[in-house]
Amino acid sequence: MTAPTFPASTVLGYPRIGPRRELKRALESYWDGRSTRDDLEGVARRLRAETWRRLDKLGLGALPSNTFSLYDQVLDTAVLLGAVPDRFLTAADPYFAMARGADGIAPLRMTKWFDTNYHYIVPEIGPDTVFRLDARKPLSEVREARELGLETRPVLLGPVTFLLLSQGAPGSPAGFSPLDRLHDVLDVYEQLLAALAGEGVAWVQLDEPALVMDRTEAELDAVKAAYDRLGALSARPALFVASYFGDLGGALPVLAGTPVEAIGLDLVRGGVPRLAELADKVVVAGVVSGRDVWRTDQDRALAGLRAVREQAAQVVVGTSCSLLHVPYDVELEPDLDPAVRRRLAFAEQKVAEVVELAGRLAASPAVGSGDEATPAVAAVTDTPSVKSRSPYVVRAAAQAERLRLPVLPVTTIGSFPQTGELREARAALTAGDLDEAAYDELVRAEIARVVALQERLGLDVLVHGEPERNDMVQYFAEHLDGFAVTRNGWVQSYGSRCTRPPILHGDVRRPGPITVRWIRYAQSLTDKPVKGMLTGPVTIVAWSFVRDDLPLRDVVFQVADAIAEEVHDLEAAGAAVIQVDEPALRELMPLRAPEQKAYLEWAVAGYRRATSGAADRTQIHTHLCYSDADQILTAIDGLDADVTTIESARSGARILGEPAIGGFERGLGPGVYDIHSPRVPGVDEIEDGLRAALRALPAGRVWVNPDCGLKTRTYAQVEAALTNVVTAARRLRDPG
Ligand code: GLN
Ligand code: ZN
Repeated sequence: MTAPTFPASTVLGYPRIGPRRELKRALESYWDGRSTRDDLEGVARRLRAETWRRLDKLGLGALPSNTFSLYDQVLDTAVLLGAVPDRFLTAADPYFAMARGADGIAPLRMTKWFDTNYHYIVPEIGPDTVFRLDARKPLSEVREARELGLETRPVLLGPVTFLLLSQGAPGSPAGFSPLDRLHDVLDVYEQLLAALAGEGVAWVQLDEPALVMDRTEAELDAVKAAYDRLGALSARPALFVASYFGDLGGALPVLAGTPVEAIGLDLVRGGVPRLAELADKVVVAGVVSGRDVWRTDQDRALAGLRAVREQAAQVVVGTSCSLLHVPYDVELEPDLDPAVRRRLAFAEQKVAEVVELAGRLAASPAVGSGDEATPAVAAVTDTPSVKSRSPYVVRAAAQAERLRLPVLPVTTIGSFPQTGELREARAALTAGDLDEAAYDELVRAEIARVVALQERLGLDVLVHGEPERNDMVQYFAEHLDGFAVTRNGWVQSYGSRCTRPPILHGDVRRPGPITVRWIRYAQSLTDKPVKGMLTGPVTIVAWSFVRDDLPLRDVVFQVADAIAEEVHDLEAAGAAVIQVDEPALRELMPLRAPEQKAYLEWAVAGYRRATSGAADRTQIHTHLCYSDADQILTAIDGLDADVTTIESARSGARILGEPAIGGFERGLGPGVYDIHSPRVPGVDEIEDGLRAALRALPAGRVWVNPDCGLKTRTYAQVEAALTNVVTAARRLRDPG
């Protein structure tokens, strides 16, 4: 078929939570039974209309539709294909039951969307899954936009990525993989394309981000089979296959060899390809980053666009990925330092950049020099030599001497329940309705309560409870130079959950001690050791928007140096135990294998830089959230913390079954209390978990703790659960 022309500019997707988080509020109100599904749909419809009108007003050429979602686009795709597992069919609202569970029905799993902080719902596909088209959502969005006088391009997850992101349904035979069902899924995509063609849709976008990861020959064959087949359909919209989050590598020639009319490339992370097969394709060139908050270097972008233009039938200016991962609008940030603000572009500004670049490209001569200089990222500094602490055995002896802990010491991960009173006080402090001294008094009272509770329950290493922290990253960002925090810079993490990442825009320095006074106060209330509690450099960087004029590694090292100063001051204030959390250690992991090893090396070096100044007699703890740590066990080992606490309650302490754990030489605290659930674990069940730990590790190395921080639980739950945790530990210590 001859492709209809593609307008000169587009974006791959747009935020949907609402500039004021309207969708979040509407969802939570519906879930709580305070409003109806119709009310929710009304809010959703308004948000979609506002987005389309706004994109149109900004002058964007091609508008996407079906990028809105009530929860998640992968879940939407499962529904579109009819892949709803039977257990959800009886739920009052199967869609949200899949996402969140419903009385007694376990939800689908949720996991990270590539290397972003967005999380998607993992579809379950088995050999018997029945696929049946339910095209209501994409069709109704096309119609809704038309009512506003706007034509749109429906955005769908492509069949290969959909299946690669799915997991085998429970009970699938060994060796089954969801991709085995490709041809059945393609039947449904064919019907869908026919339905969209019938609706008069000119272009459809099929997202295949899984193709920027390492793929096997068989998977590339699946790509070819899929797009040869969809391309061969007689009545269909033109096909635009979008890739993002990296370079297509070997998948590009495969895709370019199929009849698809347009291919989307992430030119922020990937290079301009040289490929003869692109000569008859439209290339949507993603030159405006959807992954950061910085203004685009227009000259550099233009150079890339012109280089693509020389090879392709047409070049369209686009974003590197959906703008889902950036906040809405810099204009909503009146308090930002103007010097920082000038450098920023959120979704709205990025759309304007795309439009402007399309104008500049059209006005620029057809044959460019092609070799405009691209500004180089500042030179990488050498890996610092990490000062080494003494070997673990030496440290362990010094710490045992100083701390005199019982075997199976009981501790927690750091936070205690955040009361509504404290949250309100913090809001009042920000609003200027409460003075600093009164706020500090409240925080101190909360610390005193948390310390008293832990003493009463009989914990061995106490925490102060983190009442002064809104968030484990934002709190440090607010106290370090080089960071800005936003008022409305929310980004969807999953469902109704949003985060407001700080913006790391300059050199990071610690103007003064951050946590020392709180820890010192807590320690003054008890003879038991109180843990200093810090967030690690990789996690601070992973959960922020980070400057792009320095290699990420160097940024992590700067943050590490600031944390090292805090470690030093905590030690000087008498802290005998200091925990440096790295729950996000795995989050910056590059998507392709060759880069992963280098990443883990410098990430570990960053952590060591933050902690290796500690004296042998200071016990360094770290905390990581996930239980499937196998992939990074060697990295965890490399952190060289004296004690590592880890999530494992949900997997029945599965990690302890890993042979690699046997070789883990230092203290380990596998979580025995699943803090994600309101359920209070019984003594026997905790004891079972600990026995499993004792089978894998010598008693002297096992710690007893919950899976993660207690922030989201209530005091009643925490008190009951920790009582049982202490009882179980005591029974095992003294089996008399
Ligand atoms: N110390 C933090 C807390 O307890 C750790 C949180 C985390 O692992 N995400 O809340
Ligand atoms: Zn955790």
